[in-house]
Amino acid sequence: MAQIALNAQHIVPDSIQEEARIALSHYPDLENTPITFKFKKKIKKSTMQAQPLFWSLFKTRKKREYVVLISEKIKISGKEYLTKDVPKNIMIGWLGHELGHIMDYQDRSSLNLIWFGAKYTFSGSYLKEAERAADTYAVSHGMGSYIVDTKNFILDNAEIQEKYKARIRKFYLSPEEIMVMVDKRERSTESSE
Ligand SMILES: [Zn+2]
Repeated sequence: MAQIALNAQHIVPDSIQEEARIALSHYPDLENTPITFKFKKKIKKSTMQAQPLFWSLFKTRKKREYVVLISEKIKISGKEYLTKDVPKNIMIGWLGHELGHIMDYQDRSSLNLIWFGAKYTFSGSYLKEAERAADTYAVSHGMGSYIVDTKNFILDNAEIQEKYKARIRKFYLSPEEIMVMVDKRERSTESSE
């Protein structure tokens, strides 16, 4: 198998190298941003989570470092489903959404991020705002079709826990809303040519 070149500042587990490379290729702004992708036994209430490393918030914005935590298993009732085994385009969409969070964090001051972390944990409206911002970044970076596939994978999967799906419906953009954004984006790029 051919070695896939990733930047030294992007640390990715072997099982998702190619997916991460494709997702990262949509975000040239993050080329020099240190990001570590890491599997974790369990993440409370979600499958992936992007966050700044706390100590790096005391450096300049350019030197901030981030981690994308990936739960080893997906919340599917009754059986074990390993996150690394999801179809390739779904994994790319999922990672693309997390990189959208990092784009959003890059725009924020460190103080805002510390405050934001607290609000994200405690407030539904901030959670919703953050999830929409992440999807919006992903769509504007040309990842719309991956994002739609990932949402549909979760929402149309009868085996995924209803509680998790309800959370996705409540806080995230719907596949239809994303389609509208993709459509608008395509039309605006056409007219600018
Ligand atoms: Zn998210």
